[in-house]
Amino acid sequence: MKKYPLLLVVFVCIQAGSYAQKLKIRLLSDLTLSRILFTPLAGDYKLRMDTCQISSENNPGVYQLTVEGDSVRVKSFEKDFGKCARVLFEAQLKEGSFKLKSIAPEIKVKVYDNDLEVRISQGGLKLINRVGIENYIAGVVESEAGSGSTSEYYKLQSILCRTYALSNIHKHEADSFNLCDLVHCQSYKGKSENTIILQAVFDTKGLVIVDDDMNLISATFHSNCGGQTVNSEDVWSLSASYLRSVKDTFCLHMPNAHWQKTIATSDWINYLSLKQKYPVDDSLSCRQALTFPQYNGRELYFASKEFKIPLKTIRSDWQLKSTYFSIRQLGDSIVLNGRGYGHGVGLCQEGAMHMARLGISYGDIINFYYTGVHLVDLAVLNFLKED
Ligand SMILES: [Zn+2]
Ligand SMILES: [Zn+2]
Repeated sequence: MKKYPLLLVVFVCIQAGSYAQKLKIRLLSDLTLSRILFTPLAGDYKLRMDTCQISSENNPGVYQLTVEGDSVRVKSFEKDFGKCARVLFEAQLKEGSFKLKSIAPEIKVKVYDNDLEVRISQGGLKLINRVGIENYIAGVVESEAGSGSTSEYYKLQSILCRTYALSNIHKHEADSFNLCDLVHCQSYKGKSENTIILQAVFDTKGLVIVDDDMNLISATFHSNCGGQTVNSEDVWSLSASYLRSVKDTFCLHMPNAHWQKTIATSDWINYLSLKQKYPVDDSLSCRQALTFPQYNGRELYFASKEFKIPLKTIRSDWQLKSTYFSIRQLGDSIVLNGRGYGHGVGLCQEGAMHMARLGISYGDIINFYYTGVHLVDLAVLNFLKED
């Protein structure tokens, strides 16, 4: 894996550039919120409104924010601070964190790092967490990878999540934030308290994956490839030089390596005939439809040479865990014996977890799943782009 040690000297001054800025992450993106409670947890917060600027040190306690027409009204137990179009709770220290409780609708308390901006959008409170990128990455890693993984795997996941976040930083630009907190962008459920994750994020601070042209890669990943990953153009229309199919034996005994689904033969034949216009009346084609093999590697199409249905279409229609399945007959049913879980493009999470447990470094794991990529410090990347 290539690195750029000679340019290390320029890191510090460039680090103060775009990378140091906070990301704007929309919180509770799928809910229409009408009443929330904001409570400073660590550090002093400045409350900035059109009408006033106050410090939480002088006004400790809980702040209630409600919708009032096109404005946000802010109250504490003792005082009404008035209303305005935009409210900002700004942490005075970079370690600042706060509790967020939605009363209507009611959801359990969440904790976030750094600042909270509140506006009105479509009749509800629109919450934007202005958060340092490494704090955000730690929260995402915990949401995406859960607890119980190795430190090396968390380092790997940190680099993937950081690369994804920065390559998708304009995804919600039209809505005046960077990313939402749902799987549409990356799942983000708040501040991470997991010390192994926090250390892994710190140890890989600023590291991202780029292709030969020094562009951030689309760091796609999935749960389990079943033994072979997939070329990107076989799932999406886009062909990427680094998203190439690789054979993977590391995931073969992991939890999502195998699945099975039984379908009544009559339902299967009806589906093929009516929806796909497959020639079920032809005896050879019909036999092939009931005994479809994928034992020697992934296929793209089902089932005969003369008539092709993309396997990704069948996966979607039957909500299968993967396109990597074989079919056999059992009585008046067919049994799909499947391998893997997910689209199969890019990094196989369960394979990567097993590799990390075997002592393989995150750099080698990245090079195994992404073809011809480089791991670079973001500051170097900014420098090279500006040059
Ligand atoms: Zn999104
Ligand atoms: Zn795999």
